[in-house]
Amino acid sequence: METVLKGQIALITGASSGIGTGIAKSMAQAGATVVINHSSAKSKEAAEAILKEITDEGGTGMIAQCDVSNEDEVIRMFADVVAAYGTVDILVNNAGLQKDAKFHEMTLAEWNTVIGINLTGQFLCAREAIREFLRRGPRPEVSAATGKIICMSSVHEVIPWAGHINYAASKGAIKMLMQSLAQEYGDRQIRVNSICPGAIQTPINRPAWDTPQALNSLMSLIPYNRIGQPKDVGNLAVFLASDLSDYITGASIFIDGGMTVLESFVDGG
Ligand code: NAD
Repeated sequence: METVLKGQIALITGASSGIGTGIAKSMAQAGATVVINHSSAKSKEAAEAILKEITDEGGTGMIAQCDVSNEDEVIRMFADVVAAYGTVDILVNNAGLQKDAKFHEMTLAEWNTVIGINLTGQFLCAREAIREFLRRGPRPEVSAATGKIICMSSVHEVIPWAGHINYAASKGAIKMLMQSLAQEYGDRQIRVNSICPGAIQTPINRPAWDTPQALNSLMSLIPYNRIGQPKDVGNLAVFLASDLSDYITGASIFIDGGMTVLESFVDGG
């Protein structure tokens, strides 16, 4: 991957586990200085361990505690990063969670928590990133684009998901958040895209892969016949953040081993 992100500052939310960690490591290897956001005091140790792995390999970065659904904390996190490094070039809006329930049993708290983190959290972080990109203006010495935002969506921005309606609604909404942002700020050379993973092996979906039976059943949904790894998503995030993808904006890129190619039609229907 060499150093396609050299000299750039990348803030990755929810980076103390799973896909966010994979993206932080890949972006650091690609030359970016990475900000590893974690949500609370409980995840500080994990974030520090990831930063150590990155710096041991010659990378640079910092950790930043912030609940992405809290406006004051998000504003403070961006101010801290700008104070430390001068600016932000890349935002990866990755933090997210599930609170699954049958729809008729779903509490308002379960709905609000998922929408608050998965959707409002992406709004708050994207708003601070856009404000910083507009304040700072172009940095042609590091990138053709003035700023880049990558939204973590899901195959569930197009595949409905019974039993997970709060989650599916949050991801469907991210599609319009991302595309409308790309439309509104394209003329300022700000690129905004989404990554839509299928099944990636992380803590969020442990029951889907932690027994041979579960993994076997998951494979019936994945034509490519393997579960995805955080590194797969990290590689795509580096591409979308770099000038290699400079003409891509407003796009949802699926990374799902073919899950959205409708495996049930594999034999002709
Ligand atoms: P994960 O549980 O390992 O990671 C989610 C991260 O978000 C955690 O580090 C968690 O601490 C953080 N987070 C939660 N609430 C937060 C808050 N309020 N503020 C800041 N951080 C917070 O799971 P993951 O699979 O790595 O998920 C990352 C993203 O990828 C999520 O948006 C998820 O919806 C999306 N995704 C995952 C899969 C998959 O198969 N794993 C598929 C599609 C989409």
